[in-house]
Amino acid sequence: MQYQSTRGHDMPQSFSEILLGGLAPDGGLYLPKQYPQVTADELEAWRKLSYADLAFEVLSRFCDDIPADDLRALTRKTYTAEVYCNARPGDNTADITPLRTLGEEGGTPLQLLGLSNGPTLAFKDMAMQLLGNLFEYALRRAGLKLNILGATSGDTGSAAEYAMRGKDGIRVFMLSPHRKMSAFQTAQMFSLQDPNIFNLAIEGVFDDAQDIVKAVSNDHAFKARQSIGTVNSINWARVVAQVVYYFKGWLLATDGPGQKVSFCVPSGNFGNVCAGHIARMMGLPIDKLVVATNENDVLDEFFRTGTYRVRTSAQTYHTSSPSMDISKASNFERFVFDLLGQDGDKLADLFRDVDTKGGFDLSGTPEFDRIRQFGFVSGRSTHEDRLATIRDVHARYGVTIDTHTADGVKVAREYLTPGVPMVVLETALPAKFADTIREALGHEPERPAAFDGIEALPQRFEVMPADAAQVKAYIARHTGL
Ligand SMILES: *Cc1c(COP(=O)(O)O)cnc(C)c1O
Repeated sequence: MQYQSTRGHDMPQSFSEILLGGLAPDGGLYLPKQYPQVTADELEAWRKLSYADLAFEVLSRFCDDIPADDLRALTRKTYTAEVYCNARPGDNTADITPLRTLGEEGGTPLQLLGLSNGPTLAFKDMAMQLLGNLFEYALRRAGLKLNILGATSGDTGSAAEYAMRGKDGIRVFMLSPHRKMSAFQTAQMFSLQDPNIFNLAIEGVFDDAQDIVKAVSNDHAFKARQSIGTVNSINWARVVAQVVYYFKGWLLATDGPGQKVSFCVPSGNFGNVCAGHIARMMGLPIDKLVVATNENDVLDEFFRTGTYRVRTSAQTYHTSSPSMDISKASNFERFVFDLLGQDGDKLADLFRDVDTKGGFDLSGTPEFDRIRQFGFVSGRSTHEDRLATIRDVHARYGVTIDTHTADGVKVAREYLTPGVPMVVLETALPAKFADTIREALGHEPERPAAFDGIEALPQRFEVMPADAAQVKAYIARHTGL
């Protein structure tokens, strides 16, 4: 399997070559040259597989430069019921991503695919846990070490730390805005005592932390000397790991070949739903892919009108589904590449317009018509919608859903088709967003037992001014390089 850049740079790479990298040299994102195809017979044969072995089957079509036995050992180590142990009572933990039917609505089952039962209670664990094991494997094989640098406002940073803790050859330096995360999220990250995890609480806001990461990454000499890498959502291995649960969700929602399923995806950087698009391109019988946004509706605007218009940070809202608060969607370029019939030159032109003019307009073009062929529709949800949906799902079905999943359920209800199961991806558990749950329901969300009293655990972090030079000095001190 060879990989190409969305912007046409012609220097095909293997999976292992792009695993530890970020952008392609021309600034594009990596995609396989062809999507591997899965037949209806193969799909039926996969019904009996465990999640780990299903992941092996899907991933082995994308990473053919890792020996099969090694890859199978990695997926079996990653997807275990011990790691994904935070499912609701009554859900089948052995499924790793259990499917729960809320009820019949609009002549079809409305269902939740539980992607948030891992160590940080958000779907990012699904891909990040695999990434941790893949990185450790690849670094060991190449005799290299990696120092991961990132900035987080919560979800990504904790998922990265829980995936990389205790891993050979890997250190994590994670910047977060001092005293700006919830007590729960702070405790999740700062209570880690692993010596390879470094929490830096930056005196400033999230953008200050992110600016420091950019400044450090732009110092190429420092970056090379310190083997600095990232784990952001454009990483191809993260996207491909997410393809697996669309297969699992389809297998759980159907009982025979060719049956169609729709998926509704609470979206931010478009990584999750991009994986759904790839599953569909591989032949999975998906009817609709419903993109749900919050007040930051860049993507909903595009799918309704064909106009992609990125926002400034001043135009970006801080909402009660904060992991979907984006000004532009970093994985969207992969999808646009397919819309354009994989024309890298055309794509490079459009994304040059994003940099110079703040966006592009595909309305009225044959390319835009292709979004219907690809099954895409969209909708947006607001704080009031979120509260109303959390209350309604709790009252009707006795299930508490988190704020991001509530955006998904709200928008999914606008696209129900009789006889086609609607599967909403549950991207976080409500325990992570207790303030909004309390606002909606007047009581605390249930918390998985492992998280009782987490706020009282000793915390390990360093407070630092928003100064790239001091962060660099800190990194150098701790790597000894
Ligand atoms: C990251 C995240 C999202 C958005 O996912 P994308 O892949 O960026 O579209 C949605 N919900 C939760 C809880 C998240 O952590």
